[in-house]
Amino acid sequence: MVKLPINILIVDDERDFVEVLSLRLTDAGHRVRAAYSGKEALSVLAETEPEGLPDIDVIVLDIKMPGMDGIETLKLIKARYPVVEVILLTGHGAVDTAVKGLKSGAFDYLLKPADFDELTGKLEAARKQRDAQVGRIREAEARALMRRSGGLFRCD
Ligand SMILES: [Mg+2]
Repeated sequence: MVKLPINILIVDDERDFVEVLSLRLTDAGHRVRAAYSGKEALSVLAETEPEGLPDIDVIVLDIKMPGMDGIETLKLIKARYPVVEVILLTGHGAVDTAVKGLKSGAFDYLLKPADFDELTGKLEAARKQRDAQVGRIREAEARALMRRSGGLFRCD
């Protein structure tokens, strides 16, 4: 079965983790970008945003990072790019924070150390959700455009 590549942004302050995960996801056929802080993640998103929709489908976001933490980063991402799905990475001792993240708009969360197959499954599900939402936006845009041009050509 041919799988469509997912555009993924990994955000984690642990460089080794980011490198290993990037390699595995790239080998699995996905397009991967990396950021090592919340701030860097926001600039990557801004760079990949030609028409208000960043060229990123899913973000894998570490909760525990120095400076701006994952929850703060998540809130900014969802405020600016509501359509981009976020999967949080959290430690076993921090499930409470995951709950907070889900309430702030995260698609799902994973406990570290993350199981690769579990992550892949969640990435696919998140991408499906994003695609469906983008599809609904496009449809509504097309309908709005038709209404406007209908108004232009109406002869009453
Ligand atoms: Mg960390």
